Amino acid sequence: MTGTGGPPALEAVDLTRRYQLEGVAVEALRGVSLRIDQGEFVAVIGPSGSGKSTLMHLLGCLDRPSSGQLRVGGVELSNLSDTRLAELRNATIGFVFQSFHLLARTTALENVALPLVYRGVGKAERRERARAALEAVGLGHRVRHRPSQMSGGEQQRVAIARALVGEPKVLLADEPTGNLDTRNGVEVMAMLDRLNSESGVAVVLVTHEPEIAAHARRQIRMRDGLIEHDTAGAGR
Ligand code: ADP
Repeated sequence: MTGTGGPPALEAVDLTRRYQLEGVAVEALRGVSLRIDQGEFVAVIGPSGSGKSTLMHLLGCLDRPSSGQLRVGGVELSNLSDTRLAELRNATIGFVFQSFHLLARTTALENVALPLVYRGVGKAERRERARAALEAVGLGHRVRHRPSQMSGGEQQRVAIARALVGEPKVLLADEPTGNLDTRNGVEVMAMLDRLNSESGVAVVLVTHEPEIAAHARRQIRMRDGLIEHDTAGAGR
C-alpha cells in the first residue's frame, strides 16, 4: 500500500554518521540516501558492522547525522531543537526491539498503555486504546498477564501493540524476531504484515535472516556504511 498521498514517511539525503572511538573516527554511514513512502514494508539487511543500527537510530530520531538531510513526514530535522525532535519522534515513530523491553512487573495492558501517559491521554482512554491494540495483535485474552507469564512470541506482540498504540506513521523494528524460534518469528512477521496492510503504518525492520527479509516487499542491503542494493531501484 504505497503512494497514499502526502510527503514520504522518511526521506534521507546523503546521510553520514561519524563516531569518535579513542581518537579515531569511525565512519558508520558514508552517504545514505533513501525514501520510504507511507505504507511501505522494508527490510534492511547486511553484514554486522555495515551501519544498519546506526541508520535505524537516525531514522528513529534517536541520534542526529554528522551531515546530510533527514525529513520525517516532510519535516526537516536539522532545524529542530532536541525537545521538538523528541516530540516529533513520540508522535510519529513506534519502536520494537529484539529483546522486547517490556516492564517485568507490569501487566500487558499497562505496558501497552504507557506511551499514552507521556502524551497526556486520560486513564480511561488509555486502557481502552491499550485493550484495542492488544486485541489487534491477537492478545485480547492476555491483558492481565505479566511478561513472565507469556511466551516470547506473545511478549513481542505486546511490544508491537505498545509501538502501535499511539498510531505512529512509522514502525522501526531492530531484529524483531532475533530472540524468537522459527514458528514465533513467522507469526510475528505475519502480524506485522497484516498491521501494515490494515493501518498503512510504514514498517522498517532490520534482520539478518533471509527468510524474514523475504516477508518485506522491499529489501535494502547495506555494506560498509552505504546502501549496496535497494530493490526499489535507485531512480525514485
Ligand atoms: P550494524 O548494525 O550493521 O551491525 P552498526 O551501525 O552498529 O552496524 O555499526 C556500524 C559501524 O559503526 C561499526 O564499525 C561499529 O563498530 C561502529 N559504531 C557503531 N556505534 C558506535 C559507537 N557508539 N561508537 C563508535 N563506533 C560505533
